[in-house]
Amino acid sequence: MDRLPTPNYRLVDLTKYHLTVGDRKALPIAAVRGCPYECAFCPSIYRSKVPHYRDPEDVALDIECIVNMGYSAVRILDDLFISNEPWLEELCRILRSRFRIWYRCCARVDTLKESVVQLLVESGCREVLVGAESGSDVMLRAMRKGQSAIEVKQAIRRCKDAGIKVIAYFLVGFPGETWETLRETFELIRESSPDELHLHTPVPYPGTDLYNNPQRYGITWMSPNFNDYSLNIRMDQRWILTHPTSDNTQEMYSWIVAKLSREGFKCSTDQSFTTGTTL
Ligand code: SF4
Repeated sequence: MDRLPTPNYRLVDLTKYHLTVGDRKALPIAAVRGCPYECAFCPSIYRSKVPHYRDPEDVALDIECIVNMGYSAVRILDDLFISNEPWLEELCRILRSRFRIWYRCCARVDTLKESVVQLLVESGCREVLVGAESGSDVMLRAMRKGQSAIEVKQAIRRCKDAGIKVIAYFLVGFPGETWETLRETFELIRESSPDELHLHTPVPYPGTDLYNNPQRYGITWMSPNFNDYSLNIRMDQRWILTHPTSDNTQEMYSWIVAKLSREGFKCSTDQSFTTGTTL
């Protein structure tokens, strides 16, 4: 990856990009590629299972170029930004000493230890995106997520306490979801109160374990029409796949949305919810 040159952003019509971090305009960068985890629903398993880390100095060159164009924020798009602490420490040291940028990154909740959160906040991290997925350990195990509900809760609290905005993603209606597991998710959201919420339903993208081993999840049918496989959430799972609990998904989705709305979580038309904090 280090052999790739810094992108020539000037060849792109940047007025068409509307990324922000806080109230600052941002551009995207990539620092790591690949993920060794095997979450059942994640299409990232298409990529390398061995994470490839760019040289922090090389990442700094991209940031310098972005800063020279008048931007003061970046969105780090990597799935697994925080998994190699020595590498992260070096990159954060560079960010802290040479730049005054704000950034957003993605993190697994089990990597967000106190010391890591400190590193992030001191180097300009203002927003972190976490795959929380569920408040139920039963569902987290079913998803092969490799994290526990208590870790989700602790990571959200830790980031919020440090002043980092938390954008949390949850999956509703994964095979095996029950009203009890859904209530656990609602309780976790209510108690930990992430700043922004995105609720999705699972999609069995080709290459995921859901797609490769449907019997493991009780899936008896998947739509042969890949046009149905949209990240833009279909509440009604019956469009995409059939499994023992798929008939309940739409009702469950509506239920949790209504409960969250009553708790003050905002609902927007693209089915993402925020507690009212603006980006
Ligand atoms: S959800 Fe995140 S941790 Fe899991 S496989 Fe995908 S990128 Fe890796």
